[in-house]
Amino acid sequence: TPLIIPRSDHPISRNLVSPHALKVLYRLKESGHLAYLVGGCVRDLLLGREPKDFDVVTDATPNQVKRIFRNCRLVGRRFRLAHIHFQDEIVEVATFRSSEPEELEAEMPIPMAEGADAGGPRPPRHLRSDDGVILRDNVFGTPEQDARRRDFTVNALAYNIADFSIIDYVGGMADLRQGVIRTIGDPGVRFTEDPVRMLRAVRFAAMLGFAIEPLAGEAIIELAPTITRATPPRLYEEILKLFLLGEGEKTYQLMRQTRLFDHLFPHFTAWLERETDGFPHARVGQGLEWIDRRGGAGDKISPPLLLAIMFGEYLEEKAAGFRQTGRAPQEAINGAVAEFLGELAPTVLVPQRIGIAVRDILASRNRFRKIPGKRPQSFVGRPGFADWLTHLQFLSEIAAEEAKTYAWWHAYAGTAATEVPAPELPGA
Ligand code: ATP
Ligand code: MG
Repeated sequence: TPLIIPRSDHPISRNLVSPHALKVLYRLKESGHLAYLVGGCVRDLLLGREPKDFDVVTDATPNQVKRIFRNCRLVGRRFRLAHIHFQDEIVEVATFRSSEPEELEAEMPIPMAEGADAGGPRPPRHLRSDDGVILRDNVFGTPEQDARRRDFTVNALAYNIADFSIIDYVGGMADLRQGVIRTIGDPGVRFTEDPVRMLRAVRFAAMLGFAIEPLAGEAIIELAPTITRATPPRLYEEILKLFLLGEGEKTYQLMRQTRLFDHLFPHFTAWLERETDGFPHARVGQGLEWIDRRGGAGDKISPPLLLAIMFGEYLEEKAAGFRQTGRAPQEAINGAVAEFLGELAPTVLVPQRIGIAVRDILASRNRFRKIPGKRPQSFVGRPGFADWLTHLQFLSEIAAEEAKTYAWWHAYAGTAATEVPAPELPGA
């Protein structure tokens, strides 16, 4: 039986919940269904933080949800979710389910079910590979099963719209109070099912200032090498969350301590650990601190800018190596970025357009050195310019010699912005 915390004993009030999410919850309830807020939003509301989004779970099936809401779209082939569309917000409604829906590791071969050949292959709804990774599941479940399939106790709390109580099946309230990230069930099993949970543990610990429960911490250190079993596109998405959500520097330290970082970025880590002229490479930490500060001030940092700042010094060294072999500056940068993406590719898939944008950020440095150079106005009007200038600003804060260059372009861009840029010719 769950712990029920009545409205009088917890701080979540309805005016902290998005009006659209409330509308969805009430409508489900009026239609005779259970309707809860779940996951990150309940955790964040209890901690007095502003939730990123509001997720709803219900006992209504996706098709039933669709019949209740006009503005509803069903999404997801594997696991159907309902998206209720409002002007500026989408409320996600999921049906209680009995085990892990986490992204099917699409690239992994799905073993054939025994005897499936008879009436055509029909994979079972629950499927685990030999190494315990969950491959597929699609099963509706009870509210309790839905809570237990989640990753951490603090992520498994539900807010019940029927009586405004909190439902806690797994001790999440106590862990929230004590600041602990604890897996639901055995950490070794849960991290093996889905290795990305290890990164999530680190992210939540850094973001919330929580401690990772010791057994979970040990399991992460032991299983860190298995992080490479997650698919490269998913790891790319996770890395953006790890380093762009406000506590990137702390996250980085935790990832180094647990060695998750080393397994995601083995080449880069080997370079980090090789001192140059007796100096350890410290720019990653500085860069992430700078990004955290920008984020705290409300600025959005783009993925290419993150990569250019995190890996900038490494890329510069690579480019310098290419220049020594006689390549032109632009070619050397292209070579450096291509080599870097190639190193990452088996583990972390950086989309091509992001790689191109990283290359352009690095190349902009050479253009910035010419003041004003040829046609500065068209340079300032190029689509990536805002990121290039922000990158220069970062450099100017860690290296005094860039300060004047940044000051000049910053001032120039301010005046040039008021002029109408020449339209770009298609195909030019
Ligand atoms: P954030 O604030 O970063 O969005 P969140 O807790 O909402 O944090 P989401 O990735 O949005 O995280 O996932 C929503 C919920 O789904 C989580 O709170 C958790 O209960 C569950 N969940 C997400 N990913 C996993 C996973 N890999 N394994 C188990 N449960 C998960
Ligand atoms: Mg969320």
